[in-house]
Amino acid sequence: DFDVLIVGGGPAGASAAVYAARKGIKTGIVADRFGGQVLETVGIENFISVKKTEGPKLVASLEEHVKDYDVDIMTGAKASKISKDGMINVELDNGATLSSKSVILATGARWRKMNVPGEAQYSGSGVAYCPHCDGPLFKNKKVAVIGGGNSGIEAAIDLAGIVEHVTVLEFDTKLRADEVLQRKANSMSNITIITQAQTTEVLGDGSKVTGLQYTDRATGSSHQIELSGIFVQIGLMPNSEWLDGDIDLTNRGEIIINDKGETSMEGVFAAGDVTTTPYKQIIIAMGAGATASLSAFDHLIRQVEQ
Ligand code: FAD
Repeated sequence: DFDVLIVGGGPAGASAAVYAARKGIKTGIVADRFGGQVLETVGIENFISVKKTEGPKLVASLEEHVKDYDVDIMTGAKASKISKDGMINVELDNGATLSSKSVILATGARWRKMNVPGEAQYSGSGVAYCPHCDGPLFKNKKVAVIGGGNSGIEAAIDLAGIVEHVTVLEFDTKLRADEVLQRKANSMSNITIITQAQTTEVLGDGSKVTGLQYTDRATGSSHQIELSGIFVQIGLMPNSEWLDGDIDLTNRGEIIINDKGETSMEGVFAAGDVTTTPYKQIIIAMGAGATASLSAFDHLIRQVEQ
């Protein structure tokens, strides 16, 4: 049995593990894949105090830091159910059940993909998902944003200040973003918005993106745009399906937490991209992991042994 069991081995989970282990309590971490989204990241330039690093390199440092402490690391297993009977029980897809006095949920999120030819091939060499992370790579270049919801239009406004030109492609007949964001985007001279546009292919020269192809859904005609970057903003999906019904989630599936990282189940905390935190970044996930861990410790020292 654990004092703290962390589910997820990304930046939030790793940070929570180090903070818990430093309290000298029995800490376990179970993860499908250690490293999380960071494993898929090519260049990282906004992890403060490290000017530039790469995803796999940062993951190796995270793992080294966690392994420096007495933490039971279990990878290759996915949590599939949480329940409580005095102890908190986490069932795994391999049939095992882990019990702990407190649990930290840090299962992260995944970006929705367009699933068109070229997208996977050019991911990290023109196809991007995070404007805060990769915007500056496209300084003075032409880019597209796929998706006209709040995150797409926010990304377009953000990028328009850095890049030469932004084309927004929205599948529907109109944008879904808040009115105030739409007004702002329409007022910027280097943003073009195209509605009823279905992206059909990412075009490239074998090493990087050179453009994209889309179908005008109103006429059925096909068009090409030349550009260097494509920001896909069609949704970030929290890895929380397995908690539905047991832990309170928003209608978008994010775990609802308060300032201390507490969830709706007593003794269960959450951190990082899987939660309602408004910004999804490595440094923010790490801070949240620390918060959740300190809150779990605070909870444990208030428990009286029966
Ligand atoms: P994640 O990193 O998503 O980790 C989740 C962990 O949970 C993983 O270990 C996963 O295997 C595990 N898991 C999931 N479900 C289960 C389950 N049911 N059971 C057990 N384990 C489970 N941020 C920046 O700050 N700078 C950048 O430059 C940057 N670039 C990015 C580039 C890309 C391509 C992507 C996709 C993201 C980028 N981000 C960047 C965002 C950043 O990676 C995330 O904000 C951060 O990784 C979130 O950390 P997390 O620990 O909450 O979740």
